[in-house]
Amino acid sequence: MAISAILAAGAEKATAQNDNFEYNNERFADLQMLRYQVKGFDQLSLKQKTFIYHLQEAALWGRDILFDQNGKYNLRIRRIMEDIYTTFKGDRNSKDFTAFEVYLKRLWFSNGIHHHYGCEKFVPEFSRAWFEKEAERVMNEDKMLKPYQKQLNEIAEVIFNPNLMQKRVNLAEGQDLILTSASNYYDGVNQQEAEEFYANMKNPADPHPVMFGLNSRLVKKNGKIQERVWKTDGLYGEAITHIVDCLTKARPFAEDAEQQAVIDKLVEFYRTGDLHTFDEYTILWAGNTAPQVDFVNGFTESYGDPLGLKASWESIVNFKDMEATKRTETLSANAQWFEDHSPVDSRFKKEKVKGISAKVITAAILGGDLYPSTAIGINLPNSDWVRKEHGSKSVTIGNLTEAYNLAAKGNGFRDEFIIDKQVLQLVDQYADITDDLHTDLHECLGHGSGRLLDGVDGDSLKAYGSTIEEARADLFGLYYVADPKMVELGLTPNMEAYKAQYYTYMMNGLMTQLMRIQLGNDIEEAHMRNRALIANWCYEKGKKDNVVELVKKNGKTYVQINDYEKLRNLFGQLLAEIQRVKSTGDFKGAQALVEGYGVKIDPQLHKEVLERYEKLNLAPYKGFINPVYTAVRDAQGNITDVKVSYDESYAHQMLRYSQQYAPLPLINE
Ligand code: ZN
Repeated sequence: MAISAILAAGAEKATAQNDNFEYNNERFADLQMLRYQVKGFDQLSLKQKTFIYHLQEAALWGRDILFDQNGKYNLRIRRIMEDIYTTFKGDRNSKDFTAFEVYLKRLWFSNGIHHHYGCEKFVPEFSRAWFEKEAERVMNEDKMLKPYQKQLNEIAEVIFNPNLMQKRVNLAEGQDLILTSASNYYDGVNQQEAEEFYANMKNPADPHPVMFGLNSRLVKKNGKIQERVWKTDGLYGEAITHIVDCLTKARPFAEDAEQQAVIDKLVEFYRTGDLHTFDEYTILWAGNTAPQVDFVNGFTESYGDPLGLKASWESIVNFKDMEATKRTETLSANAQWFEDHSPVDSRFKKEKVKGISAKVITAAILGGDLYPSTAIGINLPNSDWVRKEHGSKSVTIGNLTEAYNLAAKGNGFRDEFIIDKQVLQLVDQYADITDDLHTDLHECLGHGSGRLLDGVDGDSLKAYGSTIEEARADLFGLYYVADPKMVELGLTPNMEAYKAQYYTYMMNGLMTQLMRIQLGNDIEEAHMRNRALIANWCYEKGKKDNVVELVKKNGKTYVQINDYEKLRNLFGQLLAEIQRVKSTGDFKGAQALVEGYGVKIDPQLHKEVLERYEKLNLAPYKGFINPVYTAVRDAQGNITDVKVSYDESYAHQMLRYSQQYAPLPLINE
């Protein structure tokens, strides 16, 4: 499963870093393009670089598969529009052309004509007459499009008729979800037929069921329903053959024999389409944890199928971030010290605690359904029994999170909400370090700390359980990020740094996270409730000592922290109380904390935050332009080095991919 929920949180994090990399790129419609930096690539060995080079080629060859999965007209529409875009001789500043350009950029971003997130069809803001005239011209000039000239009206209908193929994935109850969804996973079958087809395949007694339907289109022809399987000699075979070819070239450079076995199984699966082979492959993949370089390549997530069976194609190539992983290992190695010194009652402490070293990876390329819009974490495989019996890999993608954070720098957010220059400077200087460190403390130590008293049921806090658990982990991090132990372990540079985390945390919890909630609504999501709970509780309990204030300047509200040490004491007190609630299964206590501090919003303040945020005019969705890898070869064709560069524009990259990695025919039946 892809972790994208945390994605939205990146936007309000205030971080800064002084380097010259330009994270922000162009902005259009509701989208902001970003770049990510593949830090550490140059330090990899030639063998690792060569491995990545072939794997990133494999990641790019699957792009057309996703376009076709997202809708059967997508490849034809893309081809026509790219032709128009590159050969248009008229006024490129005209109303029609500029609107057309935005449409094409959105189509590239969504891998089709529907919104990548909302799934609704794009509304073209250029005229149909203009489009048909241009389309007629290019369809006459382009050999590949000539056979489809008669379809022009049909294609224009798909683009312009608002009642046709309205949604890519429709989940509205009471409708035939297959007939009303534009995605291309079923052809000629209705929902009932598809459900019956797969119900008949299932054997309830099988403890190890394959994921039926995962890698095929279900088609009814001449009254017969059958699967068209995606494999080298099946549907999408032209693309899959290229993917297999790149995987085969990558194989000799794999980091160990187990990783070669992973590649062999994946290739076998691509050749046979056998879902038992797929399970075997995912088991090998989940167990292969030693190598620094790793990858996902294949039919993976099923959000695009209204029945949740068929998987869209995606790929990511990555390598372990040794620096960040070292940080989490340092914390892990000292886990017992943190447990022993925490401010909670000793009855609730673990006698023996084991830290978790979270794996942080660096993305090298994004492909298919992970491009340009992407997840910032991966937790695979998806098969329930495989996860249970063989485990899964869970990683966070450090350089993508970093890119989100650094792109947010200079977008005006911090200048708008941070109280004054001194605090802004403090945040600029330290927030990137302390924010990562807080996340690590939360993940590696916070969740694993503490114990339930004997006889206490782990579910006693019911609906409040996850908010309390997140608060516990966050408080553990907040308490310790200010501890001299952090400086001693070399994790923060001095005893000032933690203040950046304290300020941004309180600002987020008291004010800025409200920008993601509609006026009039309560806070519902557990992580957001936990932040509000902590911030509001400390604000209120600190009132008599004037620890934290909300002050007004020029009619705007700001957070002001008057005493950082006392704030740390408050975090410690609340941590002790939250741990007591958890350890004793005190439902009433949990209810009072969550309902009292974590749910309700001051409507006046909410309105103010929304208005101030709105004025910043930030794009709600973001995606990434990939870096470009170039292989340096000797006279024999052996790779002697791999260079990575970041200078390609969004449109250029999309057009280049459509030229270099477009193996599929325009119609795939
Ligand atoms: Zn957590």
